[in-house]
This record gives sequence, C-alpha cells and structure tokens, in this order.
Amino acid sequence: QLIFLNGKFVKKQEAVVSVYDHGFLYGDGVFEGIRAYSGNVFRLDEHLTRLYDSAKSIMLTIPYTKEEMTAIVVETLRQNHLQDGYIRLVVSRGVGDLGLSPFSCEMPTVIAIAEPLRIFPKELYETGLEIVTVATRRNRSDVLSPMVKSLNYLNNILVKIEANLAGVPEALMLNDQGYVAEGSADNIFIVKNNKLLTPPGHVGALVGITRNAILDLAREKGYEVAEAVFTRHDVYTADEVFLTGTAAEVIAVKKVDGRVIGEGKPGPVTQDLLDSFRELTQNDGVK
Ligand code: PLP
Repeated sequence: QLIFLNGKFVKKQEAVVSVYDHGFLYGDGVFEGIRAYSGNVFRLDEHLTRLYDSAKSIMLTIPYTKEEMTAIVVETLRQNHLQDGYIRLVVSRGVGDLGLSPFSCEMPTVIAIAEPLRIFPKELYETGLEIVTVATRRNRSDVLSPMVKSLNYLNNILVKIEANLAGVPEALMLNDQGYVAEGSADNIFIVKNNKLLTPPGHVGALVGITRNAILDLAREKGYEVAEAVFTRHDVYTADEVFLTGTAAEVIAVKKVDGRVIGEGKPGPVTQDLLDSFRELTQNDGVK
C-alpha cells in the first residue's frame, strides 16, 4: 500500500509523521473521507470544497490548489490499483513547537490514504440497524462550527464507545438543547407520511455530502423534503429512520432506544433511496 505524504508516495510502514505535528499534539487539522465507485470518485468537488472551507475556518492554508488535490486523490487510487475504495485526506497544521500557537508550524502535513472499504456487514442493510441515544452531546455550533470537519473527533469517539458498550454499532447524538443532531459519523433522516426530515447544520450536524445527495434524489423522485429541528419523540414515532454517510451510504434503522421503528425493517422509502443512491454512485464522479 502506498500513502501520499507531503508530496511523495511512501510505503505504509514508512508513512510516519513527527511527534511535534500539531495534528498529533492538538488535533489541529482537518480531514475528509471520500469514496470511489468503479473508478469514479464520488462528489470529489464537494468533498474538496468542504475540506478547503474547514481549513479556512481554522486559518489553515492548504499548500495545494484544488486541482492539485484532485490529482492527488486520483493518483493515490491509481498507485494502489483501486477502482472501489475509501480515500482519507488529512491536512494537519504540521510540525511546530510544543506551544498551542499554530504560528510555529511552517508547513502543513498533507496525507492521502486509499484503502478497500470496510463498511457495515451486508446483512445490516437488509435487517436495519439498532441504535441508542447516548449521553455525549454534539459540541455547540456557536463554538466550533459543526461544518468544520476537524481532527478533533473526541465527541464522536465517545459516542462510538457508548454505542459499542450498549452493544450496538452506531448511536444518536443530541445537541446541548436535546434536539436530534446526528450519528457518530453519519446524518439522520426520518420519514413520516412520505415526508423526509433531516436536521439543519445549525442544530449540530455536519452537512454531509451523502445527506445532500439524498435530499436532491428525494426531491427529484417527488418526495417532500425539509430540514427541520426535531426530538427523540419524532424519531420514535417515525415511519422510517435511516442514516447517511460516505462509509455507510444509506442504512435503515430498525430500533431506537428499544422502540421499534415502523415495521422493524428497512421501509420502502429508505429502500427506494438506497437503490437510487447506488445507481448514482456508479454514474456520477471524477474519473
Ligand atoms: N456527520 C459526521 C460527524 C461525519 O463525520 C460524517 C462523515 O463524514 C457525516 C456526518 C456524513 O457526511 P458525509 O455524507 O459527507 O460522509
């Protein structure tokens, strides 16, 4: 496996960064998770826009243009002979001294890793996921914007730990006011009377690329869709619930905090959107 590290492709064992990298010392940096399907990189431009926006928000200058970054992603897949896979892009503040100030860091560290994808087991797409609500809350949107996909994923990691301790693969995170925000690394949709609802970014959700693709697809297919603030009660009483994300794609939720959702299996709207999404991923992307 070859990793892109600061301008060069190096073997996995040699892909190492300094202990003085502020990405390591402070989680100071940004990242993206991207998918390639049959040689097409799905929504690469949207992912790069989010990466550059995240970087701008934390005053980090990425030392490549968007065009160069596009070439890096495509070349990382090529070097690893991957048609289908997951690409992780990381830009950290780089090597500096032990102080918090980012101004001691002269050059950001840029990494691209491409791997075959590990996702939820196939059966889970047929049965649906069981999830629980956890105590960990989404950090407030007025402090660090949830739009910044930063290397500080402790909240999300705590969510994952709580989920796994409860014996389920994923969990639902509320914001500090108790409104439904998102999962540990995916967005949530509920379907009620054929209408789709998903929380707006300001509630504390990353505006997912998959989420946006599903909103567009659903509109095209004639479903009514809206961004809305909602509570756990709305989730428990929905006809269908599903999660979206680059890694998860679209996955039905069959149980939330012990409450069976709808008929306890993937519902027709979820299935319809999953099918359309899979079709879209085959036909839309950067070669
Ligand atoms: N929410 C969080 C916190 C995430 O990390 C991700 C994954 O990137 C998502 C939602 C889903 O976003 P996307 O569909 O862009 O992968």
